[in-house]
Parts: sequence; C-alpha cells; structure tokens
Amino acid sequence: MADKILLEIVTPEKKVLGEPVDIVVAPGEEGEFGVLPGHIPFLCKLKIGEVRFRIGSTSRHIAVMGGYAEVLPDHVTILATAAEEATEIDVVRAKAARERAERRLAEAKDKMEFARAQAALQRAIARLRVAERQ
Ligand code: ATP
Repeated sequence: MADKILLEIVTPEKKVLGEPVDIVVAPGEEGEFGVLPGHIPFLCKLKIGEVRFRIGSTSRHIAVMGGYAEVLPDHVTILATAAEEATEIDVVRAKAARERAERRLAEAKDKMEFARAQAALQRAIARLRVAERQ
C-alpha cells in the first residue's frame, strides 16, 4: 500500500495543487472528513471551507468554495468551484467581499438574495480564515 496520497485540487480555471501528501482533511457537506493512504473509495459533495493537508511536518491550507471530492486509496481529487492556497489569497479583497455580503444580508428582500449574500459571506470568511494560517 502506498504511504502517500496524490492530492489534486482543480477548478474550472486552473490546477491549484497536485502533490503527494500524508493526510488530507476536507469539508464534506455532512461533516469534515480525514483521508489517510488506503482509505476506502467514496464520492462526496464539499461545502465552502478549507482543505488541510500535511506533507511531512508541514501543514498547508487551501480555501475551497464548494465542489466535489473523489477519494481513492492513493488519490484524492477535489473539483472546486474556486480554490486558493493561503499565499494566493488577497486579504483586502476578501475583507471587502465580507463587508459587501454583510450589507447585502442586512438589506436582502427575499430568500434568494439572502441565500446569495450568505454564500458570499461564507466564501469571504473561508478565505480570511485560510489567509490567517500563513
Ligand atoms: P469577489 O466578490 O471578491 O469576486 P467571490 O466570492 O464572488 O469574491 P468567487 O466567485 O468565489 O469570488 O471567485 C472568482 C475568482 O476570483 C476565482 O478565480 C477565485 O479564485 C478568485 N478570488 C475571489 N476572491 C479572491 C481573493 N480574496 N483572493 C484571491 N482570489 C480570489
């Protein structure tokens, strides 16, 4: 059995990551899950949050804006709507997005506007949380 997992994170725009890692933790829609080499295969939906992984003694974090994960014993593929590693996150932009989303939440006139603002707020919060971990 392999002692690493190939972690690939892909968005419609780019490949964000493709590296052998020791462990991956991802935000499944039904709760966070961890994957070690040899995990049983499964597919699941991801919510907005962070993917954490470790290579040796180094931990890294990637903000993911929801998507899907395919887990195989030696390979985890994440197809995300958008994803950024901590070092790529523009904090000023994420703070502006958070403020805009908070205003839109307060002013929302229907469920649709409220849901869109709530999702934008979650994306901004996920980005700021990951950026803080650098
Ligand atoms: P904004 O309102 O600032 O555009 P958003 O949540 O609407 O934020 P997304 O639709 O999730 O943005 O992403 C659009 C593109 O912009 C993606 O390529 C994403 O990686 C990038 N992106 C969004 N916010 C940031 C950020 N703060 N830092 C770096 N890249 C970002």
